[in-house]
Amino acid sequence: MIVIEGCAVATVDAAGTEHADGHIVVAGDRIVAVGAGPYTGDESVTRVDGRGCLATPGLVNTHHHLYQWATRGYAQQEILFGWLRELYPIWARIDEGTVHAAASAGLAQLALSGCTTSTDHHYVFPRGGGDPLAAEIDAAAAVGLRFHPCRGSMDLSEKDGGLPPDSVVEDTDAALTATKDAIDRFHDPSPGAMVRVAVAPCSPFSVTPRLMREAAELARSEGVRLHTHLAETVEEESYCREVHGCTPVEYAEDLGWLGENVWLAHAVHLDAPAIARLGATGTGVAHCPSSNGRLGAGIAPVRDLLDARVPVGLGVDGAASQEAGELGAELRQALYLARLRGGPAALSARESLALGTIGGARCLGRADELGSLEPGKLADIALWHLGGLGHAGIEDPVAALVLGPAAPLRLLLVGGRAVVQDGSLSTVDVTRVATDLARAARRLR
Ligand code: ZN
Repeated sequence: MIVIEGCAVATVDAAGTEHADGHIVVAGDRIVAVGAGPYTGDESVTRVDGRGCLATPGLVNTHHHLYQWATRGYAQQEILFGWLRELYPIWARIDEGTVHAAASAGLAQLALSGCTTSTDHHYVFPRGGGDPLAAEIDAAAAVGLRFHPCRGSMDLSEKDGGLPPDSVVEDTDAALTATKDAIDRFHDPSPGAMVRVAVAPCSPFSVTPRLMREAAELARSEGVRLHTHLAETVEEESYCREVHGCTPVEYAEDLGWLGENVWLAHAVHLDAPAIARLGATGTGVAHCPSSNGRLGAGIAPVRDLLDARVPVGLGVDGAASQEAGELGAELRQALYLARLRGGPAALSARESLALGTIGGARCLGRADELGSLEPGKLADIALWHLGGLGHAGIEDPVAALVLGPAAPLRLLLVGGRAVVQDGSLSTVDVTRVATDLARAARRLR
């Protein structure tokens, strides 16, 4: 058993329970007790001194493209479509080695910023590039994060009216077969799973309606979740209106892409009926504030989504449109963007923390196991050190975490296993990961 004590605790449970000085008890991969004051049980335990720290649930990253860690810094002043046009030909050269190096780096950075569960949306499978999905699953196991790879796909190229060149798209039937194969090989439906697969055609302007519709049928028959990009930019909305005669959300609904087993990346450009439909159907949203800022895509209506009872989580998005790739920093970015849109009351620090934890767990269909510190849940815990220069004297620890600079981690547990200790990864050598990444990026360039 592990006992963390002497720390502030923000449980992010339904009642918003917090302890100014509390403890958390972990047995195996589960939390068995959370409470105020010191732990008084007499079992032999490993004790962690949490004085000067805040314990929160581990953060949940609901949208990423890990391979993009090898293509950071390109197309620095482009909107989404121009950015994609510059990057597609480079992405056409990736292989499983590139993806392993990039995913190791991206996941290491996520762990060091408090993330315990990450998704990845991988949709580039060049011919002869090996098995990128297996490569990133290997990387996640080495870093020690809980991982939800989303098997992406594109089958609509320039010659058929789509945005990507022929070199990066797949045949529709081949994409569906490979997606089914990924579920068979890697998806673990059991409680406490470290790997779960989702079905994830890329976007309205790179995927045919047939692939969208049959992918939804496949996911529902296999009992896995559905993920895609939607309503990210005004250009995407114009594309949908021109080609399909409707808004992106109407298009998604027509294809069977709204529902409790679906979460959508971005959802920036939504009218009132679209927000109501997402709420009524229980469709989740992965809010990616830094990426939306980098690409100048717009500000998502997060307050309106929450008021409509839409599950909203946070995502860092791919590192080619968000070079930092830190999930902890997105807590503050989400708060800032919500307030730039709706004023200072639009999102509180505690609501922002909830987006990054229980909101993300809801998007992934795992709110019963992840996203809050409660007995019976998985022991995915971030213990943030708030005693240093960056945070000293901020009386409210949740405000210190969300509004202050990126906080260092005293400890990060994933299923009770220490992945970060005293600010350093315990699982992989960060210097080697950075060297491998730089080599992969150079090769692509
Ligand atoms: Zn994305």
